[in-house]
Amino acid sequence: MSTLEIRDVRKSYGSVETLKGIDIALASGEFLVLLGPSGCGKSTLLNIIAGLAEATSGDVLIDGRSVIGVHPKDRDISMVFQSYALYPNLSVARNIGFGLEMRKVPAAERDKAVREAAKLLQIENLLDRKPAQLSGGQRQRVAIGRALVRKPRVFLFDEPLSNLDAKLRLEMRTELKRLHQMLKTTVVYVTHDQIEAMTLATRIAVMRDGRIEQLGTPKEIYDRPATLYVAGFVGAPPMNMLEGTVEGGKVRVKGSDAALPVAEAHDLPDGAAVIAGIRPEALRLDDGAAASLPARVEVVELTGPELVATMRVGEQKLVASLPARTHLTEGETVTLGFDADALHLFDPETGRACGRG
Ligand code: ADP
Ligand code: MG
Repeated sequence: MSTLEIRDVRKSYGSVETLKGIDIALASGEFLVLLGPSGCGKSTLLNIIAGLAEATSGDVLIDGRSVIGVHPKDRDISMVFQSYALYPNLSVARNIGFGLEMRKVPAAERDKAVREAAKLLQIENLLDRKPAQLSGGQRQRVAIGRALVRKPRVFLFDEPLSNLDAKLRLEMRTELKRLHQMLKTTVVYVTHDQIEAMTLATRIAVMRDGRIEQLGTPKEIYDRPATLYVAGFVGAPPMNMLEGTVEGGKVRVKGSDAALPVAEAHDLPDGAAVIAGIRPEALRLDDGAAASLPARVEVVELTGPELVATMRVGEQKLVASLPARTHLTEGETVTLGFDADALHLFDPETGRACGRG
């Protein structure tokens, strides 16, 4: 178990700055997820931690010691990639133990480590097979096993589940969580999948364009998004964003008579433009709620567990996730209720949440 610290790490390719100053300090045993769209710099940061790429400036410390200049092999780090190249001619057991074999670890010790890893991953019965005789999920387990036997101080994962089909991805996600709960190794895990991030992480770093937009627990990221970008990235369907203006401590929604009570609006001057964010799952059909909003139903989609209704408030679109048994007719006007503290207020100029520093 090890701490990991990333201090003002920057990376430029030519004149393009890919990482623009990353600061993260992880306690031992944390599971950090780097979450962001393709191209935001996640893999670059992971490769710098692993020593596969060099930072232009900044420092990476494991257990308080800088590893800059330390060869990847000597960093005590294991990395699992999206594409897990296994040796096709070697058995599962030898694939898992290959790193140890290269390091001339005695056969008995190697064998013990391989068996231990295989047991953890529940692939003991596959040790004699060749990779071609395995399913995608089993192959990914072997790749994880190969990383596991080295007993690294830090585990790095770069979109390890992206190549798996949806059902397997779900299964492996739970598996990874179980493994982390048992081993408590410090993990940095890269993904663009917000559900993976929410379910696996002890903390999430939401990245955008080479910067960390917000670093927090999944609950903090979901309940208190610091910016419009984070609010839109985490949650599905995404948070509704209604344009409005402040009027007497309330938010008047553009194109509607609705005035929403928002605590943060009290600090803003009348006429200030704001964006009121509300999650689809925070809305319900309710006339008696503390806050309400009239909306016209446009499209109704039953997903199974819920009814996703696309509506209009004036000209603005609003999506509500409602219980599956809700009766809604396209074209009707309903009143949506919600708790006042479910509203998030953003400054449309800066994109930052109002009143939250
Ligand atoms: P992510 O993993 O978030 O998809 P990457 O870290 O792979 O993003 O890439 C971030 C940015 O850096 C991208 O714009 C990519 O084109 C650029 N980049 C990555 N590696 C190199 C490289 N070796 N040379 C030049 N540009 C690179
Ligand atoms: Mg990547």
